[in-house]
Parts: sequence; C-alpha cells; structure tokens
Amino acid sequence: MLTAFRKHTDLKTKQIEVIGIDKVYQEGSVRVHAVKGVTLSVDAGELVLLMGPSGSGKTTLLSMIGCILKPTKGQVHIMGKEILYWDENSLPMIRRKYIGFIFQHFNLLSALTACENVEASLNLKGIKGKVAELMSRELLEQVGLGGRCDFLPRDLSGGEKQRVSIARALAGNPSIILADEPTGNLDSQNGRIAIELLKNLASKENKSVVIVTHDNRITDLADRIYHIEDGILKNGYLSL
Ligand code: ADP
Ligand code: MG
Repeated sequence: MLTAFRKHTDLKTKQIEVIGIDKVYQEGSVRVHAVKGVTLSVDAGELVLLMGPSGSGKTTLLSMIGCILKPTKGQVHIMGKEILYWDENSLPMIRRKYIGFIFQHFNLLSALTACENVEASLNLKGIKGKVAELMSRELLEQVGLGGRCDFLPRDLSGGEKQRVSIARALAGNPSIILADEPTGNLDSQNGRIAIELLKNLASKENKSVVIVTHDNRITDLADRIYHIEDGILKNGYLSL
C-alpha cells in the first residue's frame, strides 16, 4: 500500500512552483514591499485558494505567477521551466500557451457575442475561422451556456458572464487557470457554480487552478488554502 501511495505522489507534477519571491513597488520615494519571500507550489489537478485581507499582496502574487509582473527577487517555474522575466519576448508566448485568466469584472468585450469573445481568445492562440467558431461553441457548452452563444454580454446575467470568461480562459486548453476574485461580483449560488466548474476542470482535466478570494463560501471546494498577510504566506492546509 505504502509503495502504491509513493508511486501515486511521485506521478504528481508541480505545474506551478514559486521559490522565495519578493515584490517591491518603488515609485519615487514611496516603497511598498508587497510580497515577501513567498514559496509555494501547485500540482496538476489541484484547486488552491489564496486568501487574505485587501492589500495583503494577493493580486501581486498572482500577477507574478501569471508572468504579467516581474518579481524583485526569486524564481517562478511554470510547467517545470523557469520563467525568464527579462526575456520579454517569451512571456506572452508562455501566457498564451499555459495560462488562462479569469477576473472579477469578467473583462468581456461588450461589442462581441459570448461566442465571439471566446473566439477572440482562440484567435490569439492561432486557432482561426470555422474551427475557432466550433471550438468556441463547444467551450460554451462545457460551461453550460450552449444556448447563449449569440448573446451580447449586456444580455447575460453576472453568473453567465463569468462562465463565458471561464470558457474564454479555457481557449487553447491551458494547464493553469488563475482567477482574481472571480466570485466578487456574483451572488452565492452563481459564485458556487463558477467555482464548481473550476474544481471539475482541476480534478477531471488535471489543471492547476489558483483562485484569489476572500469569499468564505467556497473554501470547502479547495484542495488547499494559503493565507497571505502583509505579503507573507502562511502554510497551506488541506480543507476538510
Ligand atoms: P490585494 O490583491 O491582496 O488586495 P495587492 O497585491 O493589490 O493586494 O497590493 C499589495 C500592496 O501593494 C498594497 O499595499 C498596494 O497598495 C500595493 N500595490 C499594488 N499594486 C501597486 C502598484 N502598481 N504600484 C505601487 N503599489 C502597488
Ligand atoms: Mg487584489
């Protein structure tokens, strides 16, 4: 039994690995040490919550994991490869290939339908034309919005808009999904539907999902929860 367990854990892949990262924002004489010596990793198939009060460094940490923001110190490895933040040409490629983003305010393009919003993301990943359209419809079906493909964002509810943005994040089948306060604009029922979708993607499709939140209503869905306070990460623990 023990051998089998060891084998199983050995097979787990660290899709995200953060090693001793710091972020210092410096604007003129104003210096903010937003993230301090954070080390963490997220396996394939795991849903991890990053929780903490406003201003504690959650978005800063997520942005560094998402290759949007350069750490002042430390390393980030995505899919086993160290991110070379100085190599600005490679960062957009890494983001497009491996990472899907979900935001609190959905960030959908208001002039485009649900389907076209997902297609736009597929286009950025080199998938175009009829193939992109069919794929976009499939992705919307996967999040339960098969019947809303041709709706504009203004004709969708908040929960539906967030599900469109989940479908958009899935364009190109990235291994990592990063979400910043995805339930912040949703009622509890729709918030739960969105996080349950992400939980399924982690467990069924082996994605690594990291969700920044201070929504206590979704903690039971997490495999692990990290707390961050004043830029310092507290240990992650398994949720019950
Ligand atoms: P959270 O997402 O937990 O609310 P943030 O990561 O947004 O926290 O911010 C952490 C700290 O860094 C805060 O003190 C915030 O004011 C500061 N901060 C965030 N972004 C910037 C920036 N672009 N320039 C300067 N300070 C920033
Ligand atoms: Mg934030």
